[in-house]
Amino acid sequence: MSKHYDLISIGGGSGGLSAAERAAEYGMRTAVVENKLLGGTCVNVGCVPKKVMWFASGINETLHNASGYGFDVDLKSFDWGALVRAREDYIQGIRDWYDNYLADSHIDHLHGTGRFVDAHTIEVDGQTYTADHIVIAPGGKPMLPDIPGVEHMLTSDGFFALEEQPKRVAVIGAGYIAVELAGLLNGLDSEVSMLLRRDHFLSSFDAMLRESLMEEMVNAGVNIMPSISVEGVEKRADGCLDIHCARGIKLEGYDALICAIGREPNVEALHLDAAGVAHDERGYVPTDDYQNTNVPGVYAVGDVTGRVQLTPVAVAAGRRLADRLFNNQPERKLDYDLIPTVMFSHPPIATIGMTEGEAREQHGEAVKVYQTRFTAMYHALCPNKQRTAMKLVCVGAEEKIVGCHIIGQGADEMLQGFAVAIKMGATKKDFDDTVAIHPTSSEELVTLR
Ligand SMILES: Cc1cc2nc3c(=O)[nH]c(=O)nc-3n(C[C@H](O)[C@H](O)[C@H](O)COP(=O)(O)OP(=O)(O)OC[C@H]3O[C@@H](n4cnc5c(N)ncnc54)[C@H](O)[C@@H]3O)c2cc1C
Repeated sequence: MSKHYDLISIGGGSGGLSAAERAAEYGMRTAVVENKLLGGTCVNVGCVPKKVMWFASGINETLHNASGYGFDVDLKSFDWGALVRAREDYIQGIRDWYDNYLADSHIDHLHGTGRFVDAHTIEVDGQTYTADHIVIAPGGKPMLPDIPGVEHMLTSDGFFALEEQPKRVAVIGAGYIAVELAGLLNGLDSEVSMLLRRDHFLSSFDAMLRESLMEEMVNAGVNIMPSISVEGVEKRADGCLDIHCARGIKLEGYDALICAIGREPNVEALHLDAAGVAHDERGYVPTDDYQNTNVPGVYAVGDVTGRVQLTPVAVAAGRRLADRLFNNQPERKLDYDLIPTVMFSHPPIATIGMTEGEAREQHGEAVKVYQTRFTAMYHALCPNKQRTAMKLVCVGAEEKIVGCHIIGQGADEMLQGFAVAIKMGATKKDFDDTVAIHPTSSEELVTLR
């Protein structure tokens, strides 16, 4: 006989866990199906290991800048293996915490691959389970190009499995994952080339951010190669990789080639058709504002929906869904507008709302932009200077802030509070009326003229 639940999440990542946890808090019988590691992409091969590597790279930067503050630092060595072991121990602790949490919350952890039998029944490794509500939360996986030698490429998953530091690396891709991995490897003193198909990266970001970042990355030693189209990879007898590109260009002698050209939904195993769940040609599962799919009782949250692909978005959608289903909050849903985000580049980027270009397209002459660029006090004394840049995009006579874009040291911790204000509808005058905190970089945001 099948075991019956109020809610089953297929996928034990950010979205699936959050829906199940919140449902369990309301006393529901819940289960999470996971075929790899609890915590999903974010914990195991995404935000968490990435941020650890970013911290490490930042420590190296600080050591290199220490002489500006009078320290005579003699850096003996860097042990990549020790860093990776410490990182993985930390991540194992998070997974253990999840295991205990699920047990304490009476959430069943079903180990294996979940697939639909019908809209209310799933099968996990030969065993069937039924539920009133099923949440599709399988996340995504890295894409690889269909070119000869693709087996020699690493994805971001492969990058996190590296036990030795690649000394000479090429990163293919122009999205935030490519930029972050290139930046942190460069910060750890690998020799890094970024291969861009076009002449710039981060095309959806405000131009000020991507232009400033490109300048900083070039200054920091990243070899940015625009207009390069990779057509094949060859492994030489000495183990190094040669990259064959369009127009006869051959790039030689890399230890590693990281491909970060995008991600795709992880849906093949799900048998969505067995439940009649609609998906687009790439596999993304569309939902309405309430995370409902086209099938009553079946929902989708997180990266599989093809909306904003960030952990807090998956978490918020999962929690709100459970609030709506089990806590008598029929209107509870995630507002996908004005979602702040940070890119852990060197220096970091923080951004919310419309780019200047988007605002001008939508609001034309009603747009007013305030911006600044400066060397933060910390860097004034450092041998390796970085510039900070900030922009507020305002609309209308009341100058409502519709976009805020920051690049520079501390940007990652700066935006969250400003995002609350902007989400509440803050105007430029509200920012002006807020007394600055001195001496900081963030004070510039309330003193822009
Ligand atoms: C390198 C990298 C860095 C990132 N950095 C950040 C960051 O700094 N900040 C941020 O907010 N976001 C970041 N993200 C994005 C973030 O990780 C995702 O948006 C988030 O994990 C999505 O959550 P999810 O629940 O949709 O899917 P996932 O977290 O991917 O979880 C899905 C889970 O489902 C499991 N699964 C799939 N199919 C099945 C099946 N049929 N049966 C059983 N189990 C299944 C998978 O094994 C996986 O564990 C990063 C992503 C990457 C790749």
